[in-house]
Amino acid sequence: MSPQAANNPADANAESWDPDHYYNVSRWGDGFFTINAKGNLCVTPERRDNGPTIDISEVIEEMIAQKIEFPAVIRFQDILRAQVKNLNKAFRNAIEDNNYRGRYCGVFPIKVNQMREVVEEVVDAGAPYDYGLEAGSKPELLTVLAYNTNRNSLTVLNGYKDRDFMRLALLAIKLGRKCILVIENYSEVAQIIAISKEMGIKPMVGLRAKLAIQSKGKWASSSGDRAKFGLTLPEIVSAVRTFTEAGLADCIKLLHFHIGSQISDIAVVKQAVSEGARIYAKLHKMGCKLEYFDAGGGLAVDYDGTRSTNDSSRNYRVDEYAADIVHGLKQICDQEGVPHPHIVTESGRAITAHHSCVITHVVDTIRSADDGFDTRISTGEHMLVTNMRESEDSLNTDNFQEVFNDVSQIKGDSNNAFKLGILTLEERAKIEAMYFRTIGKIARLLKTKDFVPEDLQGLESLGANHYLCNFSVFQSAADIWAIDQILPIVPISRLHEEPTENCSLVDITCDSDGKIDQFINGDGIGDSLRLHSVEPGTPYYVGLFLTGAYQDVMGDAHNLFGRLNEVHIYADDDDPSDFYIEEIIKGSSSESVLATMQYHPTFMAQTVKKEIDRLVQQQKLPPREAVKLSDFYEKCLKDYTYLKIED
Ligand code: PLP
Repeated sequence: MSPQAANNPADANAESWDPDHYYNVSRWGDGFFTINAKGNLCVTPERRDNGPTIDISEVIEEMIAQKIEFPAVIRFQDILRAQVKNLNKAFRNAIEDNNYRGRYCGVFPIKVNQMREVVEEVVDAGAPYDYGLEAGSKPELLTVLAYNTNRNSLTVLNGYKDRDFMRLALLAIKLGRKCILVIENYSEVAQIIAISKEMGIKPMVGLRAKLAIQSKGKWASSSGDRAKFGLTLPEIVSAVRTFTEAGLADCIKLLHFHIGSQISDIAVVKQAVSEGARIYAKLHKMGCKLEYFDAGGGLAVDYDGTRSTNDSSRNYRVDEYAADIVHGLKQICDQEGVPHPHIVTESGRAITAHHSCVITHVVDTIRSADDGFDTRISTGEHMLVTNMRESEDSLNTDNFQEVFNDVSQIKGDSNNAFKLGILTLEERAKIEAMYFRTIGKIARLLKTKDFVPEDLQGLESLGANHYLCNFSVFQSAADIWAIDQILPIVPISRLHEEPTENCSLVDITCDSDGKIDQFINGDGIGDSLRLHSVEPGTPYYVGLFLTGAYQDVMGDAHNLFGRLNEVHIYADDDDPSDFYIEEIIKGSSSESVLATMQYHPTFMAQTVKKEIDRLVQQQKLPPREAVKLSDFYEKCLKDYTYLKIED
């Protein structure tokens, strides 16, 4: 540290505060996100130093100029394209390096993000690689039939099927598509054979194997003997025999397995490939001339940036994943003397997660302690108040555990004393204010300690303020609520300024589950996040990142908060800001969300207007005022569902 910096606390902070380390941007950002010299978060869709760099604050400014309200989703379409290219190139390189004789024929599972703009972009970016689509339901199948028109790419159909599902798949075959119906359940064997005869069209069939290998993490139940989908080995052998007897042996084209999403450990991928490869080889030797080997989804995303086997991370890179699949499969095929099959994977989250983020803004602060509350001595105050004050005053770096024990005890006693009518409301308020202030002080002290006793480990969050943010966890980040998914959360600007507030985030739903209290923060995962103090009149924007997979499409309208406004950004080197907004998609209005719940907004407006008119007839309201009020109700029906920020 320079001598000048040592004299100036602000400069000293500037040297020790490292926003990239604290928010782990370089790690989870995977080269797509950086912090610029202004301290703003930026997107570098081409992941190169002199390529376009999009300052997210400038995107927000342009959105404000175009009157787009927040919260909003920003999609960086170039990231989507880059990820499609990246995955296909990784497999092409691995195939070349290993002298592998099959091709890579990947498919994108649209359930990960069924938005038309996403599917169109993936199909377009994947066209040079004959990248296909995967569907898992009838509506998804209807979609992929219309959008995957490339006859060289695959359409893979998973999930439970009814007869119309199978008929649609055969229609695709008639249209010249490579559409593979994957049998998930043994009863589908007889149905496919019957429908093939009924329509006079030979199907392309895949067999999904239930592998013995058990994946780890939140999606471990997708694999192993108790898995919901897939055929056991006896069922696979019987299916092959049944197709052969029906004269359709040549229709079995693909062996499929999917051991779960977000496979964090590459060792699990390798084991699955080796088990799957052995099944492929043995089936081939039995006379079942399979052409494709489908390793399913599971390519993980490093959400927390730890590059570990944590549930929210992965301990491998995309090229390593591709190389391990290609190499593992080749080795077993060569050993067994069977041809190298074409390789299919169904990576979803790895393609879409990075391309979209949710931008929200802090609308209020819910403080854990009311710092402004007067806790000075008053004559005749209860002993518990005095004891709490003395404990607070006695706190130092050595006795924090003792003080914590004391204040916890006093707080408990004061609750009981209040219930018995012994403490006044004013006295209990003082005790609470001093308690939370002391907890905050202890939490700050603990930061300087190498060892934190178990009792005190959750203290930081107890002393943290809640930042109330204008969004709904249930609509925009459902997995945070449902499965404790970790997503990177970072302020959009002021990143060179050391944050002073320890926060957790709460949303605007009337649900106590509508909160975020697990964050990537400096040393790993913690229950609070350091953010800047919010200046009145200056919006403070915070981004939830890597929301492009599942989060974008799984949200629900809890409290009738609807879909977010959305902008689609493309990078443009010739533009002064390196980007342009290509498309704006308006989020839901209150009336559109209400209509999905079977309400009739027109009828609702008429009802309210009738009530207002009655007041006019009773001369309780001037007609001019009445018109204004019913217009206001109608306007609110048409407005965005989220909080409106007024100047
Ligand atoms: N394929 C199948 C059959 C799946 O069930 C899934 C999701 O779990 C995927 C592909 C996509 O998985 P991921 O998004 O982890 O790549």
